[in-house]
Amino acid sequence: MLRLNGVGRRFPNNVIALDNITTRIEPGAFIALLGPSGCGKSTLLRILAGLDTPDTGSLTWDDNTPPGPGDIGFVFQDATLLPWANAEANVFLPLRLAGKSLETARPIVRDTLAQLGLAGFEHAKPTELSGGMRMRVSIARALVSRPKLLLMDEPFAALDEFTRHRLQDDLFALWREARTTIVFVTHSIYEAAYLASRIIVMSPRPGRIAAELTCTLPDT
Ligand code: ADP
Ligand code: ADP
Repeated sequence: MLRLNGVGRRFPNNVIALDNITTRIEPGAFIALLGPSGCGKSTLLRILAGLDTPDTGSLTWDDNTPPGPGDIGFVFQDATLLPWANAEANVFLPLRLAGKSLETARPIVRDTLAQLGLAGFEHAKPTELSGGMRMRVSIARALVSRPKLLLMDEPFAALDEFTRHRLQDDLFALWREARTTIVFVTHSIYEAAYLASRIIVMSPRPGRIAAELTCTLPDT
């Protein structure tokens, strides 16, 4: 899907967040970015999303086709939702920004909510939902445009263990079915080993790749 060629990112305060990152994101992969705080995981994710740009090195997309609108879904760490809007309106947002009307988009929005186990919660506001459900809405919003690449920054970190395992299992099943390429950030080796087809381990000062592991997935 894409290659990172010696990607570096230095912030104006002279912190080197990323140093010479070379790797590839293969289509259909489920990649865990693992490492301690400050090793550059979020910076790398933001660069993949096009929310930040490298100072050195480059990203090469397959067929030299950079992603267009809707090709990348991003899930922020705190499941940022519009607080005044219900689940349906939150998930509709990317399609609204793409110029679609709610009438035409509603079936896709409803399908996506249902895929994330949120059928019946279309009209619930974020304050009426649990943390796990807010994260599900956030993931539904990232998936509604059927992106080629789904990026998630610590999607499970704020959840209790039970909710986390259920969401992990649902996401894994979703990935198995749709084969959307996924890159997610985690601090947990367990989470990485449970979900990922490949693990990129990063180390800080400066942010480098310490190891890359190819995982054997359970054949369920
Ligand atoms: P991680 O997600 O692994 O915790 P980050 O990518 O957030 O790491 O940060 C990597 C390093 O870059 C850290 O030392 C952090 O303090 C620094 N950093 C991140 N964003 C900025 C910024 N906007 N300005 C200055 N320094 C930053
Ligand atoms: P261990 O002794 O290694 O902790 P257990 O035998 O206690 O393992 O439990 C492992 C079981 O927990 C697995 O069969 C798996 O189905 C279930 N499980 C569910 N979610 C997770 C998860 N995120 N990480 C690890 N195990 C999980």
